[in-house]
Amino acid sequence: MKRPIRRGAAALRERLRGRLVSRDDTGYDTVRKVWNGRIDRRPSLVAFCADEKDVVVALRFAREHELLVAVRGGGHSCAGTAVCDDGLVIDLSRMKAIEVDAAARSVRVQGGVLWGELDRATQAFGLAVPGGTDSEVGIAGLTLGGGNGWLMGVHGATCDNLLSADVVMADGRTVATNCNENADLFWALRGGGGNFGVVTSFRYRLHPVGPTVIGGAVLYAYEDALKVLRHFRDFASSAPDTLTVYACLICDGDRPVVAIAACYVGSADRAEATVASLRKWGTIVTDQLRPMSYVELQSLFDGARPAGRRCAMRSNFMAGLPDAAIEILVEGFRTAPSPLSAVIVEHCHGAIARVAPDATAFGLRSNPYHLEILGFWDQAEEDAANLAWVERLFADVQPFNTGEVYVNSLDEGEGHRVREAYGINYTRLVALKAKFDPTNFFRCNHNIAPR
Ligand SMILES: Cc1cc2nc3c(=O)[nH]c(=O)nc-3n(C[C@H](O)[C@H](O)[C@H](O)COP(=O)(O)OP(=O)(O)OC[C@H]3O[C@@H](n4cnc5c(N)ncnc54)[C@H](O)[C@@H]3O)c2cc1C
Repeated sequence: MKRPIRRGAAALRERLRGRLVSRDDTGYDTVRKVWNGRIDRRPSLVAFCADEKDVVVALRFAREHELLVAVRGGGHSCAGTAVCDDGLVIDLSRMKAIEVDAAARSVRVQGGVLWGELDRATQAFGLAVPGGTDSEVGIAGLTLGGGNGWLMGVHGATCDNLLSADVVMADGRTVATNCNENADLFWALRGGGGNFGVVTSFRYRLHPVGPTVIGGAVLYAYEDALKVLRHFRDFASSAPDTLTVYACLICDGDRPVVAIAACYVGSADRAEATVASLRKWGTIVTDQLRPMSYVELQSLFDGARPAGRRCAMRSNFMAGLPDAAIEILVEGFRTAPSPLSAVIVEHCHGAIARVAPDATAFGLRSNPYHLEILGFWDQAEEDAANLAWVERLFADVQPFNTGEVYVNSLDEGEGHRVREAYGINYTRLVALKAKFDPTNFFRCNHNIAPR
């Protein structure tokens, strides 16, 4: 039965080890913020859970009071699904434990850890979990959506390296999952996002990485953009697993440039020869590709996408990068209203592509180019112009869209594309959602509705 929330909140506050923030509390406007500054939602309560028990208590409270629940790991979802209007946010940012077992090559990580924190802890042993490319992103949301990044060529997607997870289910039960125990739930968690429960801890396989890698970017003059992108395409299609390259149309100050960002994690004696080609594609403006620690590389691009900036994105996978698509992207980026915006083409290859599409819920592994059109700007008055630019360029590249989208790249209002994010796995995910969350309690996400 629905119970009055105000009185209940006092009782909830008593029962939590962590902090509960309501609309009347100091700091409310800070704690309701997420990474994307465009998201402006007003939850009734934000529960900063200190441990798994707190998550159970908060979740049961939400059930009793029929509150919508949002789950926040690192808060970096562009769509802002980590925060809701009127409901309860289960925030995991206080749950920061990291236990490295270097001998077993595994690490157990609580759901509020960020990639930079995990990388620093594991690199102390010369090990790493394949993650994304930014240090401030949460391990939870990224893993549950799939996870691509610099190590995907050698070690696969993040979710391919998940060994087990502890989950609080919609009915408040706590469940352990791995390949043998609750295996169907474990399958769904590896790509199915926040649809199946609150994951309080993840255990990952660790790999030796670095600690020195070759990383950074070579910046080319925009006049050479067409040529550079064609070289990128031809080079990437035969790049070794040890080298991952992204092509980025960005502005260096106010000046548009093409950045070829890369990470090489192979043997040191072949390093320079392997990356040498990346410097031969046109007029170089700046060469920032150099040996650096893996930890440094992982935070190199943080400054370009700070928390609080307004963002809108559209994305899809592409089977190839034909000249016609390159021309549209290069011309389209010239018309971006904001110099903070970017167009990124990520080349996904190697280990991530060798996993069968139905091995995990994340199954979009065969198309090598992941396109992201990213509008970034600072002022609300600039929303309309920037949103229109993102939409227009996305519409222009539709002839090259494979009809597949990475779930973690979906924006607000793109719920209709969730099916595109799962391809052949969608039907099984719907059935598992009906089994594990028949009332769609977890719906503040890229929702897979139970039938
Ligand atoms: C700057 C930036 C860089 C990025 N780089 C990459 C990249 O290199 N590779 C890549 O793959 N992706 C990347 N992403 C996308 C990223 O994977 C998603 O935004 C992801 O959702 C972020 O995870 P989070 O925990 O920070 O998100 P949150 O916003 O906290 O969570 C997003 C959703 O995940 C679910 N969720 C979060 N935590 C839990 C939990 N513990 N249990 C259950 N459900 C949970 C919830 O449904 C929540 O709404 C990037 C995003 C940004 C903003």
